[in-house]
Amino acid sequence: MDTIVQRVNPEYFQDKELEKACQILQSGGLVAFPTETVYGLGGNALLEEASHKIYTAKGRPSDNPLIVHIADMDGLYDVADKISEKALALAEAFWPGPLTMIFEKKEKVPLSTTGGLSTVAVRMPSHPVAAELIRQSGVYIAAPSANTSGRPSPTKAEHVIEDLQGKIDMILDGGAVGIGIESTIVDMSGEKPMILRPGYITKVMMEEVIGEVDVDKAILSMEPKTNIVAKAPGMKYRHYAPKGKLAIVEGDIDSVVAKINQLTELHEKEHVKAAVIATEESKRLYQCKNVYSIGSRKSEGSIAAGLYDILRLMDQIGAEYIYAESFSEDTLGHAIMNRLFKAAGYHRIQV
Ligand code: AMP
Ligand code: MG
Repeated sequence: MDTIVQRVNPEYFQDKELEKACQILQSGGLVAFPTETVYGLGGNALLEEASHKIYTAKGRPSDNPLIVHIADMDGLYDVADKISEKALALAEAFWPGPLTMIFEKKEKVPLSTTGGLSTVAVRMPSHPVAAELIRQSGVYIAAPSANTSGRPSPTKAEHVIEDLQGKIDMILDGGAVGIGIESTIVDMSGEKPMILRPGYITKVMMEEVIGEVDVDKAILSMEPKTNIVAKAPGMKYRHYAPKGKLAIVEGDIDSVVAKINQLTELHEKEHVKAAVIATEESKRLYQCKNVYSIGSRKSEGSIAAGLYDILRLMDQIGAEYIYAESFSEDTLGHAIMNRLFKAAGYHRIQV
């Protein structure tokens, strides 16, 4: 199939620029579009055949449910059941924005969208293109990240083209996204709210609004726990991984630099391609030929925004061994380290 790629300036665009995308969604096709977190691969959430197409295009296991994107609160009442006061308070505080909430699903949401679960994940995105696409098409959009399953999530239209060209109807290119890691997921269907995936909206931010929030044990620690099954089905799969062997090097920065220099020197002697994921502050301290800055330690946001692009770059240059510095696990750092550890298959070197 030919994939139409259409540029849409998020700052300024007109309704007619989304017409084709709306038609495709209404007729059961797939459109990739920018959101504030990562690019999504969208299809009609209420149409069984559309979610099948999403799973096929991504090569995604069909027990891994999709997030349903809505444009307003009416949409929430339409797809979700038993919406608590706390959920409404979170919606008031963080929607539209990078927060996904899980509720019991309404009958009309097909099991193919929810991966067979009786619950549904819902998000109201703030990105102007995403919001307008939902509104104008009149379609609730089921959308996982627009990457091939297992690869780093797409933060630019080029990443989507790399993975999905020829497999979907259309890509709306709105440039690089702002946040760069996926939404926070909080389960609001149980007794107590529980974070299933860390993201830009942190536990502390939510607790300021609704009081205590639990964290799924499977994501609390940065270790792979074979005996603890993640409550978000997607969190159990290998994810975000570059093709080379990635290790996270932890310790004070001088020891980290010394260790990485020692390791990359060995690889280079053996003519094996090695690369370093450094920061603006440290990039000049490495001797390796391939040193890339992920962002600045002064801005966690810049690191989150640079993460997936740099992991994809590692594949492009064919790095066989990759060493990354580690970051504090405070606030947004929790989500960054959660993704980085998964990408590394939890391989860490402590110095
Ligand atoms: P993605 O859209 O690619 O970021 O993936 C969606 C994430 O949401 C996956 O990790 C899913 O497992 C999770 N998810 C979606 N629906 C549910 C649900 N009903 N219960 C638990 N996790 C969910
Ligand atoms: Mg994903």
